Amino acid sequence: MVKILATGGAGFIGSHVVLELLNSGYEVVVFDNLSNSSRASIERVARLTNGTPEFVEGDIRDAAALDALFKAHDITAVIHLAGLKAVGESVAHPEQYYDVNVAGSTTLFNAMLRHGVKHGVFSSSATVYGEAEVMPMPETTPTGPVNPYGKTKLMIEQILTDITSIGPGWRSMILRYFNPVGAHKSGQIGEDPLGFPDNLFPFIAQVATGRRAVLNIFGDDYPTPDGTAIRDYIHVMDLARGHVLAIDYLLSDKAVDNETPVVNLGTGKGSSVKEVHAAWEAACGFDIPAQIAPRRAGDVTIYCADAAKAKEMLGWEAEFDLAKMCEDHWRWQKGNPEGYR
Ligand code: NAD
Ligand code: UDP
Repeated sequence: MVKILATGGAGFIGSHVVLELLNSGYEVVVFDNLSNSSRASIERVARLTNGTPEFVEGDIRDAAALDALFKAHDITAVIHLAGLKAVGESVAHPEQYYDVNVAGSTTLFNAMLRHGVKHGVFSSSATVYGEAEVMPMPETTPTGPVNPYGKTKLMIEQILTDITSIGPGWRSMILRYFNPVGAHKSGQIGEDPLGFPDNLFPFIAQVATGRRAVLNIFGDDYPTPDGTAIRDYIHVMDLARGHVLAIDYLLSDKAVDNETPVVNLGTGKGSSVKEVHAAWEAACGFDIPAQIAPRRAGDVTIYCADAAKAKEMLGWEAEFDLAKMCEDHWRWQKGNPEGYR
């Protein structure tokens, strides 16, 4: 059996990735400091699959903890999801983002070097892209992140690419996610934001359960058909399947030593805020209060993936549409209005 280490595997995306890895016959060790997650997600993943993920509580900045983990487990590849991810917080506390994301990743990659673990998949983000002249955006779109979060993601991409380029037998992959939403169809695992939800799906979900009064639609004067901004929302189970295919690829003879391909994971189809709101109302079967509010600083009009490379390289294509994303997200939110707590 091939054993995969998932850093940040207790989190929103990580828990779905761990589930898909186990369902695909991989063994999984989760390493997470639980700063933005709970052990309950891993317990629930164990109940949803035949395999059982092993859990090690620890911090990616702790070299000794990583040494102990790599000594105790024969790890073939690492999926590196652990990190901080809130754009606004990264502007207020850049030092924390450089520490956890960049220093943490370097500590992890050094531990991989010490223990001969040569395959890494990194969770990056479409936020690394700068202003795009071509939409949908291919991976060749110039980078140019505008906030510390995005900058840390790009730095980690560069560090992993450089280490992979010289490490004998190293093969890595960078996955740039667009807007991950939804939840596993069981409604047992999902996104559990601590505090105020900044993102559209978790915010609408909390309006739907009555925890928040009204959805603020940030701007209806964008140059789009209905005036609201367009994003490429991707079902988290599609995203999770992309990770399994990335690991399959790195372990196959299709992968090339010392290379780190960059792959977008998105549907290629954008949805406006108003379209998302309407899809949520259809999924819930009732009206969800919404009002037009001023534009949010820093938002762009449209962000949409060109996902052709994922299809060509990994045989991956998104399966689930916006209706399914809302339906599954709602099932999770309705059954767990306070998340895992
Ligand atoms: P999440 O916060 O739910 O998961 C991240 C996990 O990392 C959490 O379980 C947290 O406890 C853990 N973690 C944080 N700091 C750690 C540390 N120092 N040591 C060990 N564990 C630590 O977030 P998510 O949405 O599941 O995101 C997972 C990854 O995907 C992140 O790297 C994020 O930047 C990236 N990403 C997320 C999105 C998104 O919209 N959710 C989009 C693009 C990229
Ligand atoms: N948005 C909104 N109201 C909210 C949260 C988000 O209108 O309460 C909009 C936001 O302005 C953007 C889209 O929804 O146009 C997606 O925002 P999100 O924060 O989910 O993702 P990102 O901006 O990172 O793509």
